[in-house]
Amino acid sequence: MRIGFAGLGAIGRPMAARLVANHELTVWNRTGSVAEAFAATHGVAMAPTPRELAEGSEVLFTCLPSSREVVALLDGPDGLEAGLQSGTLVIDCTSGDPERSRQIGGRLRELGAAFADSPVSGGVVGAEAGTLTAMVGAEPDTFYRARTVLNVFCRTIIHVGPVGAGHALKAVSNAILASNIIAVAEGMTAAVKAGVPATTALDVLNASNARSFASMELVPQRALTRAWPKTFKLALLDKDVKNAIAVIDDAGLEARLLRTVSALLSEARTVLGEEADHVEVVKLAEQEAGVELRG
Ligand code: NDP
Repeated sequence: MRIGFAGLGAIGRPMAARLVANHELTVWNRTGSVAEAFAATHGVAMAPTPRELAEGSEVLFTCLPSSREVVALLDGPDGLEAGLQSGTLVIDCTSGDPERSRQIGGRLRELGAAFADSPVSGGVVGAEAGTLTAMVGAEPDTFYRARTVLNVFCRTIIHVGPVGAGHALKAVSNAILASNIIAVAEGMTAAVKAGVPATTALDVLNASNARSFASMELVPQRALTRAWPKTFKLALLDKDVKNAIAVIDDAGLEARLLRTVSALLSEARTVLGEEADHVEVVKLAEQEAGVELRG
């Protein structure tokens, strides 16, 4: 299949790389040198504009920071819409916002194209290994089409509802992830101040019902080692949790815990900056307690 991929960032790059073996791939990236390097490494084509990317593609992937950038990519004489072929399937792997996705879906339907919001979970490691989970919002026919290409980088592909449903679920899923990271950081700093070594506290948490992905993998591998690898920006997690709050508002719910988590993430983003990794939110609890969670 002729596939176009827009957005070669931290997760877009390994996702696109897995498409090379099975499909005829063309890539586009805002910073052209990134697309050039990818094209040279993988022996694939590079489109000079989003319009030309769309002209040659039966399936188009977008993987950008938020839905705002996806909408901007559609617009203008060199935008995706200008080159879109009737029957093209657009799969948006951005962690986006449901309302904008419904608008994008409507615009593309009028042009004879199909749209699926298909955010992914599993991180850069999952993208490299082809083991991501995709949560797909689409009409059933579009879902079945999308599944045949998503399987290159996803092990689990679930149809979660109509267009927008994938983005709603991803937003709340990341709000839960953020809650877990902050809860582990706050709980562990309190335990350390009470005299329990950080590694002992983690061993016990992970042998108890309090364990989570945050306690089993993120905090031990990234905070206790003080390695803080940069794989998923705190700014992107903050955006996801804000999208979750919009979903919560639409549902007319109070959701006091998740609103507090959103406020803490915004504060962490201001303190730590736009390039900080999401797990660095742990540093906020460390600063408050005056201790470091060292292994
Ligand atoms: P990055 O910040 O690493 O990359 C962002 C990509 O979007 C780059 O290719 C960047 O291009 C491009 N971009 C930024 N602004 C614009 C713009 N205005 N117009 C066009 N292109 C633009 O992000 P990630 O790859 O980490 O994340 C991408 C999406 O995937 C996000 O929605 C994120 O929430 C989601 N996600 C990320 C995960 C991860 O582990 N990293 C896990 C699951 C989901 P340029 O090279 O020019 O900067």
